[in-house]
Amino acid sequence: MTINPGYERPARTSRMTRDAAVCLGRMTFGYDTALGARISRDPIAEAGGLNLYGYVGNNPVNAFDPLGLKICVSPDDQDAYDEAKKHLEGTAFEKQIQELEQSQNLYYLNTTTSADTFVYPTNTIYWNPNLGLTTPDGLNIDPSILLGHEITHANLYDQNRSAYMKTSTTEVPQYQTLEERRVITLFENPTAAKFNEGIRTDHSGSYYETISPTSTKRK
Ligand SMILES: [Zn+2]
Repeated sequence: MTINPGYERPARTSRMTRDAAVCLGRMTFGYDTALGARISRDPIAEAGGLNLYGYVGNNPVNAFDPLGLKICVSPDDQDAYDEAKKHLEGTAFEKQIQELEQSQNLYYLNTTTSADTFVYPTNTIYWNPNLGLTTPDGLNIDPSILLGHEITHANLYDQNRSAYMKTSTTEVPQYQTLEERRVITLFENPTAAKFNEGIRTDHSGSYYETISPTSTKRK
């Protein structure tokens, strides 16, 4: 398949109809692909023993983009997304989110996942708004930071695909890849420090259920 072709929106009169149609059209695109080699995995996802082939294919999301933004969010997920996005205002992630929302390409949010990850053949950000991460030091990171983390991966992919391919396949100690080290040290950790949350010095951690998308409090 063609990976992420440049997509021109069809001209239609209703902005809402146009965006919904584009999102839905693109959601079916790529469902039948063999994703294995193309998936950008977070090791935390692999630790969960997830079948990445299965969860990519089995969750058709009724994606919908009423504001004309380029991150398609299901109506069911809108509140959680908005809450997390608002929480990240003034952090290193704010610009990343704004840039991805202004992309010429569509990206999709899928919240039906037990491990957050960005999957690039389908431009899908998998983010569970109820899962925080506990670092190896026993410190907690709230779900909004994990959303920012995945969006930052997607944004590099969107803006400079060859750089993304390179950083996500270059291995480095502790962080697994250069891309993980980039996102964790330059974006995630400064945000976590600002919120007085857990700082990571490697790419490990374990998920736990929180009371909200912006809280570290255990449910
Ligand atoms: Zn990552």
